[in-house]
Amino acid sequence: MLPFDDREGWIWLDGRFVPWREAKLHVLTHALHYGSGVFEGMRMYDGRIFALEAHTERLFRSAELLDFEIPLSAEEINRASVEACRRNGLDDCYIRPIAWRGAEQLSVSARETRTHVAIAAWPWPKYFDAARFRRGIDLCWAAYRRPPAAAAPTAAKATGLYMICTISKNIAERGGFDDALMLDSTGAVAETTGANIFFVRGGALFTPRPDCFLDGITRRTVMTLARARGIKIAETRILPDDLGGFSECFVVGTAAEVTPVGRIGDFRFTPGQLTFDLIDAYGELVRSEPAEALVHAAATVA
Ligand code: PMP
Repeated sequence: MLPFDDREGWIWLDGRFVPWREAKLHVLTHALHYGSGVFEGMRMYDGRIFALEAHTERLFRSAELLDFEIPLSAEEINRASVEACRRNGLDDCYIRPIAWRGAEQLSVSARETRTHVAIAAWPWPKYFDAARFRRGIDLCWAAYRRPPAAAAPTAAKATGLYMICTISKNIAERGGFDDALMLDSTGAVAETTGANIFFVRGGALFTPRPDCFLDGITRRTVMTLARARGIKIAETRILPDDLGGFSECFVVGTAAEVTPVGRIGDFRFTPGQLTFDLIDAYGELVRSEPAEALVHAAATVA
């Protein structure tokens, strides 16, 4: 893999484009020591960023939850995100905006820090191995559980919250799995290390209520698509022991898109028609013109 700090191209940093290799930070940056960073992950399809406004709104909300302000308008972030793709000659890519507390103060207290913002874009075809895709990815049980909402700003897409995801995903990959399924603090199914999860039983969808993890933009989009097809959805508590009752399972996220799951620990699933219909519907939506309006509506209604 090409190292992320040694590539050609341009990165938007605090208001201007800098050569990719020069987009650097000081080692005493607050975010590095104390996890004070928030970020987004978006995809551009055919030259348009899917759900751009919804992602930018979440970036601002995440910063607010971490008690810092982003010194820019949503429009500036939106414009810079599109420009980050254009400058690098990309039409289909992944976009990563990130905002963090700088090095102006280095202590738990951080009221003197400035907020910095960067936006980078790079090609990222599929999150999971294409060969695995049709039969479904393999998940193991994660090493860590998600903290409850009373213990962390769980609605924020915050850098610090990914520590347990990285540990869990590394262990999963070392064990030959694609990813890990995390439980919540009460022992119910929550999400994977970077995507939300859905199960199928009797033609209906079942998914955990997002009370301690991200209510993903893809999750809401897929729920809107499913409802439009007359598919019933239950947001409900799902225990590991319940998994034997489901026929299909899939995960959803900006990077993962809609990806079938073939296995969770000892439970097996066979990707079926409902999953493949939603994969197709999502694939069509992200490349279609009114996508922004639909997702924006889904994001503001919930
Ligand atoms: N949960 C986690 C932990 C994630 O990292 C992501 C990806 N941002 C999601 C869920 C899905 O969110 P979205 O659909 O908004 O990308």
